[in-house]
Amino acid sequence: MHDKTIARIRHGLASGEFSSREICEHLLSRIDQLNPSCNAFISVSSELALQHADDADKRRAAGADSPLLGVPIAHKDIFCTNGVRTSCGSRMLENFVPPYNATVVDKLSQAGVVCLGKTNMDEFAMGSSNENSYFGNVVNPWGSNRVPGGSSGGSAAAVAARMVPGCTGTDTGGSIRQPASFCGITGIKPTYGRVSRYGMIAFASSLDQGGPMAATAEDCALLLQEMAGFDEKDSTSIDRPVDDYCGSLNDALDGLKVGLPKQYFTEGLDNNIAASLQASIAELEKMGASFVEVDLPNQHLSVPAYYVVAPAECSSNLSRFDGVRYGYRCDNPADLEDLYKRSRGEGFGREVKRRILIGTYVLSAGYFDAYYLKAQKIRNLISEDFTSAFKEVDMILGPTTPTPAFKIGENSADPVSMYLNDIYTIPANLAGLPGISVPCGLVDDLPVGMQLVGNYFTEARLLNVAHRFQQVTDWHLKSPAK
Ligand code: GLN
Repeated sequence: MHDKTIARIRHGLASGEFSSREICEHLLSRIDQLNPSCNAFISVSSELALQHADDADKRRAAGADSPLLGVPIAHKDIFCTNGVRTSCGSRMLENFVPPYNATVVDKLSQAGVVCLGKTNMDEFAMGSSNENSYFGNVVNPWGSNRVPGGSSGGSAAAVAARMVPGCTGTDTGGSIRQPASFCGITGIKPTYGRVSRYGMIAFASSLDQGGPMAATAEDCALLLQEMAGFDEKDSTSIDRPVDDYCGSLNDALDGLKVGLPKQYFTEGLDNNIAASLQASIAELEKMGASFVEVDLPNQHLSVPAYYVVAPAECSSNLSRFDGVRYGYRCDNPADLEDLYKRSRGEGFGREVKRRILIGTYVLSAGYFDAYYLKAQKIRNLISEDFTSAFKEVDMILGPTTPTPAFKIGENSADPVSMYLNDIYTIPANLAGLPGISVPCGLVDDLPVGMQLVGNYFTEARLLNVAHRFQQVTDWHLKSPAK
C-alpha cells in the first residue's frame, strides 16, 4: 500500500479500490513505526489528518472530485499551517502555532490533499545535511550513517522511506534538489515567483522558492499544478497563467537541445556520478535529444556570491525574532537588552547565528559596496551566462551534487566544505531559474541525481523530459523501504 505513487493513489481513490481513511491510516502507522529511527517528521497530526480523510471520503461519495481529493502528503515545517505548530526547525519557533495558512497550504487543501504532518528541516532552512535542526538530525533511509541532505531533508527522507507519497519543500540554494538527489526521489524548484512565498517562513527572500518532492516527475507535476499560480499576497509572485504540467508529460523529445556545461564535468565531480550522467545522456539521445557543450564561465563564483547574498537577507529577515513579539523568550531578563540578547542567543542555533553575523557584516556601512553590492553584480553575471546558453539550448543537464550522500558528521566541523555541496544547485537560485533533480543511478548503493535547469517558466518541459526519462529507466522506483 505504501509503495503507491500519487498518480496511483488518485486512481485507487477514484475507482473505490481504497478510501482516503484507509491509505492515511496505513501511512500514519508506517510513520509511527519508522519515524523514531528516521526523524523525518517534527509533528504528526494523526487526528486532524483522519478527520480530513473522512471529509474527503464523504465529499467523494457525494460526487466531488477535486484533483488531489483524499491524497496524503506532508508539508515542510517552514510552511505556516493554521492551528498546527510550525517550528521551522528552530527552538525560536518551537511552540509557534500560526493563525493562518501559507498560500501553498491553502491551495493544496483546496485541491483536496490530507496533510499527515510537518517534516523536519535544517533550522530556518540553513543547511545541506539536516544536521542543523533543533529537533535532531534526519537519517537517510538509504543508510543509517548517511545524511538525507538539506534543508528539506525530512521531506526527502519521508518520501524515500515511503511514509508519504509527496511533500512540499523549499529551495533557496538547492534544498529541494540536493536532498531529492541524496534520497533517490524527484524534486523541482520552480521559477522564482511561480509559487507563492506567502506564509513560507523567510530565509533569503530573493532566492526562496517552494516546490514539490515526490517519487516521480508525474507526481511532482500533479502537486505543482495545484501549488503554482499568482498570489496577490506575495509581491514577487508572477501574474501569468500556469501551464498544463500534467498534459505535456508525454510530449516527444525529438529536437530537444541540451547543453552540458563544461564547468560541471570536471575533477570536482565524483567519477561514478559522471558515469551515471553519461548513461542518462545516452538514454535521452535515444529519444531524440541532442547535446552540445555550453560555457557558463562565472559558475565558480556562485557559492561565494550566494554566501554573501543569502546571509545578508537572512540577517534582515530574522531580525523580527527578538523575544518581544513572538517566538522564544528567555527567562527572567534583567532588562530589554538582556531580553534581546538572551532570547536570540538561546533561541537560534550555531549555523543561524553564523549567517546572521556574516549578513550583518556584509550589510554594514563601509562593507556594503565591497561585499553585498559586488555579490549582486556577480549574480547578474551568472544570470547572463544562462541567458547566453539558452540562446543555444533548451535546457542544461548536469549533476545535482558533487557526491552521493555523505556521512553524518562528515562535514559538520567545516562550513566551507558543507557549503560546497550546493555548487551545482545555487546558480539556478541566483538566476531565478527552474531546476529539477531526477534519480539517475546508484553509486556505492546510494542514489544520485541528474539536474536539468531550464529557462524561466519551462517547468512543463523539465517535467516532461524527466517523465520521459522515467519511462525508460527505473532509478526513481528504487527505494530503501521495506
Ligand atoms: N544549503 C544551502 C544553505 O545552507 C541551501 C539551503 C536552502 O536551499 N534552503 O544555504
